[in-house]
Amino acid sequence: MSMKTTGTNLQGGTEDHGDVLRRTQEVVKTALGHMGYDEAFYELLKEPLRLLTVRIPVRMDDGSVKVFTGYRAQHNDAVGPTKGGIRFHPGVTADEVKALALWMSIKCGIMNLPYGGGKGGIECDPRSMSFGELERLSRGYVRAVSQIVGPTKDIPAPDVYTNSQIMAWMMDEYSRIREFDSPGFITGKPLVLGGSVGRESSTARGVAIAVREAAAVMGVSVAGASVIVQGFGNAGSYLAKFMTDAGAKVVGISDAHGALYNPNGLLIDELLERRDSFGAVTNLFPNRITNGELLTKECDILIPAAIENQLTEHNAYDIKAKIVVEAANGPTTAEATEILDSRGVLVVPDVLANAGGVVVSYFEWVQNNQGYYWSAEEVDARLNKLMSESFHTVYETAQRKQVNMRLAAYIVGLRRLAEASRFRGWA
Ligand code: GLU
Repeated sequence: MSMKTTGTNLQGGTEDHGDVLRRTQEVVKTALGHMGYDEAFYELLKEPLRLLTVRIPVRMDDGSVKVFTGYRAQHNDAVGPTKGGIRFHPGVTADEVKALALWMSIKCGIMNLPYGGGKGGIECDPRSMSFGELERLSRGYVRAVSQIVGPTKDIPAPDVYTNSQIMAWMMDEYSRIREFDSPGFITGKPLVLGGSVGRESSTARGVAIAVREAAAVMGVSVAGASVIVQGFGNAGSYLAKFMTDAGAKVVGISDAHGALYNPNGLLIDELLERRDSFGAVTNLFPNRITNGELLTKECDILIPAAIENQLTEHNAYDIKAKIVVEAANGPTTAEATEILDSRGVLVVPDVLANAGGVVVSYFEWVQNNQGYYWSAEEVDARLNKLMSESFHTVYETAQRKQVNMRLAAYIVGLRRLAEASRFRGWA
């Protein structure tokens, strides 16, 4: 069974997920130390309480059967059921899913949601699979993990290369297994199946709020600022739009094929219209540059919205932006964060910046439990309030403790989890 920790990323490079997990654990250790929690808390929180590895046989369109490896990690359920997305990606590994589950705990802690963190993934390349194959894989995954998930146990959601259609198949499969309609089993569903208004754009909406608040504390005006968004998936594409709507000039975007940069600004609406169902659009332009080249181009605000380990010690000195807002999970390495900090660049960490997705997932779950659905204005107002309050809680913690925003976010995010674990006698 594949337990490798190195995966292939979308740009064809490799990532060491064992390293991502170890680095996350270091920040967890430091954050717990700052709060005066002893080693027992670190022992409890450094790894998920549960990691299930499954193998899913799927009948492919050509009649053959292919066996896919999938994971579901549940970091800690001291404050409530676990929550987090499922990614479909060729580079998924057990260590990646573990690190991502831990990050989800921290996100939920920062946002004060009654959840711990969870994360799932399937090692597959959805871009080379048909609709039917994807449906059978999605349903097979739910059957394989059905014992450990559920509306009061562990609630999945979309993540890299998964969407509302996949959530719908998964919800349908889960409801069939349980023999009752279970909309609260999964979030990010289509509206007609109990999805929440605003869920699809919520990660980007949350990032846009983080950008607004970060710009305000850095004395940068969003209107007129030049912005680079790396990644044109769910988060990146909505962000490019929201940034344009806020009066910023989006000068760079990218996808798995490459990047486009124009200092005079890109025509975002046109690019959005022309992308394919996986968000690819740069392949239509011969003058594209690489993802790596895009990151060091001139701009005021850089928003990595693709995948892990994009800003590293190799390019951190060349980043021109004054503000980096992490829409992706884990795009900046620890070394790069340090270099950017020392250069006075404000790095708004993923666990804070991209938590809008799980916030609106929480709203969706609450609406499912109530059977009463909110208006777009209500979702938006609640998200705005939670995101901006959390930004300032983290920012003020960073100022008060004289630490960077990432460590401050971990301190805020782990506080309640550690406290709940202590009350339960787990540490
Ligand atoms: N996959 C998203 C994340 O990484 C959303 C998780 C959720 O909505 O539960 O935050």
